[in-house]
Amino acid sequence: MFPLRISSHYLKLLEQPGDPLWLQAVPDLRELSDEGFKDPLHEDEDSPVPYLTHRYPDRALLRVTDCCAMYCRHCTRRWKIAHPEPVPQEIIHHAIDYIREHPQIRDVIISGGDPLMLSDHELEAILTALRAIPHVEILRIGTRIPVTLPQRVTPELCAMLRRYHPLYVNTHFNHPKEVTPESSRACEMLADAGIPLGNQSVLLRGVNDDPAVMTELVHKLLAIRVRPYYLFQADLVQGTSHFRTSVADGLAIIEALRGHTSGLAVPHYVIDAPGGGGKIALIPNAVVAQTDDEITLRNYAGNLYTYPSRPPDDDRP
Ligand SMILES: *Cc1c(COP(=O)(O)O)cnc(C)c1O
Repeated sequence: MFPLRISSHYLKLLEQPGDPLWLQAVPDLRELSDEGFKDPLHEDEDSPVPYLTHRYPDRALLRVTDCCAMYCRHCTRRWKIAHPEPVPQEIIHHAIDYIREHPQIRDVIISGGDPLMLSDHELEAILTALRAIPHVEILRIGTRIPVTLPQRVTPELCAMLRRYHPLYVNTHFNHPKEVTPESSRACEMLADAGIPLGNQSVLLRGVNDDPAVMTELVHKLLAIRVRPYYLFQADLVQGTSHFRTSVADGLAIIEALRGHTSGLAVPHYVIDAPGGGGKIALIPNAVVAQTDDEITLRNYAGNLYTYPSRPPDDDRP
């Protein structure tokens, strides 16, 4: 139903059945549950051409391969990549044609599968075609390679990528034990190539649904120059319901970070709305009370402060 693949690098990090890395890598009978949906985010409905999702007006998500170095058990696209095969060239050309014909697209997210499973040469052909489109301002690559196959990040890859700036990379660390010397080196090489690095974690039960674990993770990420970007509430994907946590757990993690540590360390906690509503950020409520004159705010330590609701010359009703 969903392939098993664990890279030799990640395999070495597994310590015992049920540990946080094991859960992400090793199949589990609970994946047979039929709870949830095969395409909870309606990526197919927002797909004008195959392998491209155009949900937000100014950015598009292009899937360039279905292959990954490791098949994460919590994968959101597990129903799309049950039988990973190379994506035919014509499909990618067709998707790039769509981007060329839509001048409102200024940001292209190259995703998959994992785009860094392509050879440098294949990936460069895609980057060249996208860079030739004047309205495409920024490129982003979404990849878990720094975590799962860090040796793929070579000097040659970095030298190639830096020719396509402004290029951003978002990666996917979920647990502090994934921040190994090899992964740190891979991120350092990408950062040294001038690539701003972000991280998109998924909140997973038994893996990182704990403020202390997430605090350690975000600190380790900043130390390797990776900026926490998103913390995703788990999508309602069939076969992954055993990973789901409550929304209160996610909010508690953000509460534990905001104000208590560097603002740079605090990701946006988002739910990708079922049915294709896109990402919606959740913020622990800091506004305790609100009148026409003032709002009452709660700080990270739980103390209350007031601030005028509007400037003195604002007399709108
Ligand atoms: C997440 C996503 C994006 C990018 O969203 P940002 O909030 O700009 O990072 C774009 N398209 C799709 C379909 C997405 O799922």
